[in-house]
Amino acid sequence: MPARPEPETAGTVAISSGRRTAYLVVLVVLPLLALAAAVGAAWGWGIGPRDVVIAGVMYVISIFGISVGYHRLLTHRSFKCRRPLRVGLALAGGLALQGPVTLWAAEHRRHHKYADRPGDPHSPWAYGEDWPALLRGLAHAHVGWFYTARRRSSRRHWVPDLLADPDIRRLDAAYPAIMALSFLLPATAGGLWSMSWAGFWTAMFWGGLVRYAVVHHVTWSVNSIAHTFGNREFGTRDRSGNVRWVAMLTFGEGWHNWHHAEPTCARHGVLKGQLDASAGLIRCFERAGWAYEVHWPDSRRLAARLAAGLGAGPDAGQVPPPRSVPQGVPRRAPDDA
Ligand SMILES: [Zn+2]
Ligand SMILES: [Zn+2]
Repeated sequence: MPARPEPETAGTVAISSGRRTAYLVVLVVLPLLALAAAVGAAWGWGIGPRDVVIAGVMYVISIFGISVGYHRLLTHRSFKCRRPLRVGLALAGGLALQGPVTLWAAEHRRHHKYADRPGDPHSPWAYGEDWPALLRGLAHAHVGWFYTARRRSSRRHWVPDLLADPDIRRLDAAYPAIMALSFLLPATAGGLWSMSWAGFWTAMFWGGLVRYAVVHHVTWSVNSIAHTFGNREFGTRDRSGNVRWVAMLTFGEGWHNWHHAEPTCARHGVLKGQLDASAGLIRCFERAGWAYEVHWPDSRRLAARLAAGLGAGPDAGQVPPPRSVPQGVPRRAPDDA
C-alpha cells in the first residue's frame, strides 16, 4: 500500500519559480506600491467625487464577487442559483484580481480541511505561539504565503466539481481578459463621465489600481486577523474568530468563527448585531427567484454549537489551544472528507 502523503503536501502540486515571482509581483509588491502611491496622490491632489464613486462601486462589486461568488457559492456551495447569476458572480469575483476561481477555491478548501494545522496554506500559527512567531505568522497568513509556498493546491484534487463546469472553465481561460477588464471598466467609466483622458487615467488609478490593492488587503485580513484575534463563541478545532471591523469591510466574511463551525451556511453573521451584507444579498437573490436551496442557519444546530463553544471572547495572548470537535455534536463540512 502506498504511504499516505503528509498533510503539507497532500493534494498539492509544485509551483515553478517563475510563477512564484509573478505571485510576488501581482499579489504582494504591486498592491503595496499602489497603496503608497494612493497616500501620496491623496496628499498631493486629493481625490475627486467622480473617482470616489467609481472606486466605491468597483469595491462593492469586487467584495461581493469574492464573498458571495467565489466563497459562498463556488467554494462552499451554500446556495444554488440560475446560470446567468452564477456566471455574473464568478466574473465579479474575478474582477477582485485574486486569481482564477478554481485556484482560489482549491486553496480555500484545503484551508478548511487543515485550518490552523499542518497543511493549512495560510495559518498565522504556522511558526509557533509566542509573539515573535505570531507576528511572523501574521505576515505569512496575510501575504507571505503567496511567495514562500513551494506548492499550491491541486485543482484536480480539490475542485473537480468546478472543473466539470464548462462556464467555470471558460472563465478560467478568460482570466487574463478579466484582469484587463478590472482596470478598463473603471477607466472607461471615468473617461465617459468626464469626457476626458484625464478622467480615464485617474479612474484607472483609483478605481482600478488602488481599489484592487485595498480589496486584497481587506480580504487577506480574514486569513490573518480573523484567525488570530476576535471572539470564538462556537466550538471549532481551529482558531477562527469573529472580528467586527473585518466583517464590516468584507461584507460579512469577518464573522469567521461561525463560518468554520458551519462552512456551508450562507450566513456567516448569525449572532445578534452581526451584520452580514453578503447574506442580505443572497436573501435578495432568493426572493427574486434567482437563488434557491440556500443553506440558512438552523436554530437548533446553532444552539448546539453555541453550547459546545467557549461562550467567551478570548483575544490573542489568551488564546486557548485548538479544540477538538466535541463528541456528539453534529459537524458538517463537505471539504473535510
Ligand atoms: Zn479560515
Ligand atoms: Zn470558507
